[in-house]
Amino acid sequence: MISDKKEERVDRIFEIGEIPPIGVVPKRMYAWTIRKERFGTPLEAFKVELVDTPRPRKGEVIICNMVAGINYNGVWAASGKPQNVIAEHGKYGEAVDFHICGSETSSIVYEVGEGVDMCQVGDEVIAIGIQYDINCPMIKSGIEEVFSPTFRIWGYEANWGGFAQFSRVQQQQCFKKPQKLSWEEAASCVATGATAYRMLTRWGEHAVKEGDVVLIWGGYGGLGSMAIQLTKYFGGIPVAVVSSDERVKLCMDLGAKGCINRKEYSHWGPLENYTDPSVYRNWLKGALKFRRELWNIVGEKKEPRIVIEHPGESTLPTSVFVCDRGGMVVICAGTSGYTGTLDLRYLWLSQKRLQGSHAGTRNDVGAFLDILEKSVISPVISKVYQWNDLALAHQYLSENKHPGGNLAVLIGASK
Ligand code: NAP
Repeated sequence: MISDKKEERVDRIFEIGEIPPIGVVPKRMYAWTIRKERFGTPLEAFKVELVDTPRPRKGEVIICNMVAGINYNGVWAASGKPQNVIAEHGKYGEAVDFHICGSETSSIVYEVGEGVDMCQVGDEVIAIGIQYDINCPMIKSGIEEVFSPTFRIWGYEANWGGFAQFSRVQQQQCFKKPQKLSWEEAASCVATGATAYRMLTRWGEHAVKEGDVVLIWGGYGGLGSMAIQLTKYFGGIPVAVVSSDERVKLCMDLGAKGCINRKEYSHWGPLENYTDPSVYRNWLKGALKFRRELWNIVGEKKEPRIVIEHPGESTLPTSVFVCDRGGMVVICAGTSGYTGTLDLRYLWLSQKRLQGSHAGTRNDVGAFLDILEKSVISPVISKVYQWNDLALAHQYLSENKHPGGNLAVLIGASK
């Protein structure tokens, strides 16, 4: 049944796993929220509440969520650091005193706002995490939306994310769900996949090509598992870093040429006191050993043309050191800390590039989904959580105890 009264809301609560008839939107919905007074670990911060279902504004749609992808944004938002996301609300909509995380979903469109022409009620979609003002003069002049001052991540800076029965998204966040993907797969591979795609392809002469060695930190994780497969797809040679031998198998199955176990090294962390010769010697010893292991895997003394960085503080000095002459360290996060240190001599003397990269544009997402459709690249979902386990899933993520690849949580698709 498709309701033709878009504004009318029904006065009943639907349970998790119960999907209302297409187009029927309840006044209230279940959502996992975080609040300022609960900032802390994910287990402390996330709670289920009944909240008002948002209404679409111009150019926006209301989607009914089947499954949501789980990623690190929820951990950051729960901690309230480095940013209090609730304090940001007023910038992008009404200020409320709770925040709903969740930056990617597989969903069905239930309501459309004024001026929506990119999707309609009943469409099965993937909602991606990028929001921006389509009237931004920069975007209108052809500059990529991720460079717009209006750009923000849905479910992080912007509220009404995917950890709820319904979400409010901009129409341009919606992509037709590829037939090939299950609800779970569709919900959980774009944030990592499109980010990895951009890191590997967007940066001009450093776009990955046949024969390039690519060093991938956290090969077992969401971003890493996608980066390994995309590198392989483009003909590169992926070498993954992991923290245990058990994590090697997944990376090798995805196409890694080999893996380095970082636990066999101890030179991690910021390059403090590196002007002290003994401290520097120790660090260099570790970095040289790491590079030797990398050469052994590659089978020749060939350094990575690209290093896919995201741990940040712990690993950046080594990333810059092992990167090839004229190569690129491309970084999209600072999971281990935001203090980036490096020995600048390795950067300038060997003319390396340190490049920031964030999310993916609509074009990146489209290109990534295209590759997913026509290749054997797998979204690598290692664990699908039940709705009630959402906080626990984030807790495991924050402690690096979660299974590899991408994670998802069931909402409408709950059994
Ligand atoms: P994930 O699934 O948790 O994987 C991260 C991997 O990093 C872990 O599997 C772990 O692998 C490795 N790691 C953790 N601490 C480390 C350390 N101190 N040194 C070296 N490696 C370490 O997370 P993800 O989804 O891949 O995301 C990774 C980061 O990228 C997160 O901070 C996330 O917020 C960010 N991200 C940013 C964007 C963006 O658009 N900017 C998009 C997606 C993700 P081992 O323990 O096996 O080494």
